[in-house]
Amino acid sequence: METMKTFVMKSLGKVGFSDKPVPADPGPNDAIVRTTRALVCTSDVHTVGGAIGERDNLTLGHEAVGVVHRLGSAVEGVKIGDRVAVNAITPCYKCSNCLRGFTSQCSEMLGGWKFANIKDGVFAEYFHVNDAQANLAPIPNGVSDEAAAYATDMMSTGFMGAEHADIPLGGTVAVFALGPVGLMSVACARLLGAGLVIGVDCVPARMELARRYGADVTINFKSADPVEEIRRLTGDGVDSAIEALGGQTTFEACVKATRPGGTISVIGYFGQGDYVNIPRLDWGVGMSDKTIRTGLCPGGRERMERLMRLIATGRVDPTLMTTHRFPFSRVDEAFELMSSKDDGVIKPLIEF
Ligand code: ZN
Repeated sequence: METMKTFVMKSLGKVGFSDKPVPADPGPNDAIVRTTRALVCTSDVHTVGGAIGERDNLTLGHEAVGVVHRLGSAVEGVKIGDRVAVNAITPCYKCSNCLRGFTSQCSEMLGGWKFANIKDGVFAEYFHVNDAQANLAPIPNGVSDEAAAYATDMMSTGFMGAEHADIPLGGTVAVFALGPVGLMSVACARLLGAGLVIGVDCVPARMELARRYGADVTINFKSADPVEEIRRLTGDGVDSAIEALGGQTTFEACVKATRPGGTISVIGYFGQGDYVNIPRLDWGVGMSDKTIRTGLCPGGRERMERLMRLIATGRVDPTLMTTHRFPFSRVDEAFELMSSKDDGVIKPLIEF
């Protein structure tokens, strides 16, 4: 039996390498991809920390691209040897939630997220892709594997943050937290025609990168109150606020910093506590016409093709976020780095 190297969650809080069989028969609708590039995500750190409970030898990782290695007999539109990107979210496009248009909620709430959740992930020399015809996106010539890997989650999630924010042309946007997802919200807000993009963080290198991606102003929340500063810049608050952290403080700030009728777009992962509190008065005692939207990374081939077109035409270069590179044999160090957030890390790229 052919075996491959994988990087797994051995149990809560424990990671390591593990040899597993190369997935042999993908099944008629599915595919096996040989991995070429992957990215470590803060979600991988959350998973190992217990975000989805105990797992036994589960292969980690959900951001990867590669080459089609084996293909189910019913899959059309791609062939063995094609370079493909696979979104972190791989919906079935058959269940009632998918048919209703909520493909990230495939089968059940958050159920579109299958890699490193309900099945082995992509930190492996090969990985299995369900419903391949809908989930394998050929990578255009001129788009590197590295750039395409960013489309799988950072771009798809970050861009969703701005898309859900209902930004009026020429309107004002504040993005709270400038990690890789927040940075991609900044880039997308600019593409969607925002007239003023404000980024909030405290790490100078991230604020600098936000300006490169199109932020007009960055606010360091350690030296100024971001809500006051946003009101000073806009008068009565922004049209749209994007929550890209997953914290009570930033969520509250988003509600406070948004003007009446504005939209709060949540893309952060809220990993703590039983409730998220809404500041009552800034919510207009329930009558402010403010909208709070949530979402999980939109998946699927169509989404990936559009994101990669933006890379191909030079609208956005996500590779500016690659701060570190590791061979797959050292993915454990990349994972460590993503946990500690040391050494100015934004994204560590894994090369196979
Ligand atoms: Zn991710």
